[in-house]
Amino acid sequence: MIKPGAWLGLLGGGQLGRMFVMAAQSLGYKVVVLDPDPASPAGRVAEKHVCSQYDDVSALDELGNLSASFTTEFENIPSDSLRYLEKYGQVSPSAGSVEIAQDRIREKDFLKMQGFQVVPYKPIQDIEEIDAGGCEDLFPGILKVSRFGYDGKGQARVNNVEETKDAFKSFRSSRCVLEKMVTLAAELSVIVARDKFGSMSVFPAAENRHEAGILDMSIVPARLPDEIISEAKEIACSLAEKMNYVGVLCVEFFLESGGSLLINEIAPRPHNSGHYTIDACAASQFEQQARIVAGLPLGSTDQYRPAVMFNLLGDLWDMGEPNWLKVLEDPNVKLHLYGKTEPRRGRKMGHLTMIGTDVREILDSAEHIKKFLKQGIS
Ligand code: ADP
Ligand code: MG
Repeated sequence: MIKPGAWLGLLGGGQLGRMFVMAAQSLGYKVVVLDPDPASPAGRVAEKHVCSQYDDVSALDELGNLSASFTTEFENIPSDSLRYLEKYGQVSPSAGSVEIAQDRIREKDFLKMQGFQVVPYKPIQDIEEIDAGGCEDLFPGILKVSRFGYDGKGQARVNNVEETKDAFKSFRSSRCVLEKMVTLAAELSVIVARDKFGSMSVFPAAENRHEAGILDMSIVPARLPDEIISEAKEIACSLAEKMNYVGVLCVEFFLESGGSLLINEIAPRPHNSGHYTIDACAASQFEQQARIVAGLPLGSTDQYRPAVMFNLLGDLWDMGEPNWLKVLEDPNVKLHLYGKTEPRRGRKMGHLTMIGTDVREILDSAEHIKKFLKQGIS
């Protein structure tokens, strides 16, 4: 165990990192954040912000000299940096786990090999592979860049070979994966925390709604049959075990209209769909991450109250600062802002969690507040 008062090291300094820092600080730890952005949301609240590139060896040494345990909040951290830090202590999740999750082709190949159901797909490494056959069965499909895509970025809907080629070129011919578009009855996600001894705790599944490829809302408990929820939790736990995963892992699922559950993708870190855990559960996803990094036992994932979380994107700032006074007139609203100063369109600026007793009622109030906030947009 790492004693409170000691340093924990974090690679990546976005909002997920900020909430990790706050959770670690609640447990008495100090956090050193490595992030190249001087305005990093996590860097602003951490005891120390090393403002450098993720592959800067002297910056990694600085983290290593302060801390003996490291984690990440960003899957695009170069895995070599994680591997380098191993000489200074525990790195969770491991470089190997992050390597799987940061590359869609690797991730899908791994999941398929381990016997998990995924969307039908074909890796596209170069343009010739689009002509080589095997694409026809996947139309209408989505072409996705294999690395560095997020929030629906680096994705294009395609209906035939020509469109796939055009989309591939528009992604500068970087490695892609072509996926069949599936008809979705619902989307859900499960977050599991696993420590280095193999103990696991799993959070209630979230029912997720997306808008334009970006998570809009998470509803927990999910309004789905118990069998589906149990199956999703079992899959998430079995996957964490098969990866020998240490840390917080999110598994995103598609529920097909036919009723089958497919893994969409995984994230080797806390996830946007788990933000509700801060206000609705005994231990949050960030507290679980801090406990794992510090070598403490996992906390309870019990959910005290039903919750609806929705994201606050930069679009809501079009007419200036939203009217929080009005929003907070409802005492069940919990507002989380990430301290970002530039409210760009589609940028996650914060989120709002509504707590109550009945999911339907909370959902109605959440829709009402969303509508009110959107009225500010011209
Ligand atoms: P990101 O890394 O941006 O989250 P995802 O692969 O999860 O990318 O895609 C974002 C969203 O787009 C999904 O949550 C889903 O709503 C929709 N989507 C992605 N792939 C498919 C697919 N094959 N069939 C149907 N919808 C999809
Ligand atoms: Mg996703």
